[in-house]
Amino acid sequence: MNPEIRELYQQIILDHNKNPKNFGKIDPYNHHAEGFNPLCGDHLHLYLHTEGDRIVNISFEGGGCAISKSSASMMTAFVKGKTVQEAETLFNRFHEMVTGTGKSDEDYSDLDKLAVLQGVREFPVRVKCASLSWHTLVAALKQPETVISTE
Ligand code: ZN
Repeated sequence: MNPEIRELYQQIILDHNKNPKNFGKIDPYNHHAEGFNPLCGDHLHLYLHTEGDRIVNISFEGGGCAISKSSASMMTAFVKGKTVQEAETLFNRFHEMVTGTGKSDEDYSDLDKLAVLQGVREFPVRVKCASLSWHTLVAALKQPETVISTE
């Protein structure tokens, strides 16, 4: 990775870690899942509110390393407003990018800022940090939870 890209990559991750988007618990929500990465200690709760087929609101809570937190921040910002099918397609695309199973010269600019996480493929331990929120997203979409909102 050239130094300029590496610097950009670190800056975006640090910014999202410091000021995460969609952090906290939304109310109401109708999907929830908990994700844990014992290798690093990352732990998060993901809350989703879907209407029909669309993710109208999403948030996360929890703590962990800068990679897991910034990935969750960017993921929630990216899938908000998308359909469940679109989110699942993005999950597959993201997973391919961070694990490096796609073509080595594949262009991931369609993933917008998430493309900065492509660098984690050089660090296998970090792949789990970067993909934790995405695995939790897929789990949450499959497990509707009773809405416990008092509204
Ligand atoms: Zn981590």
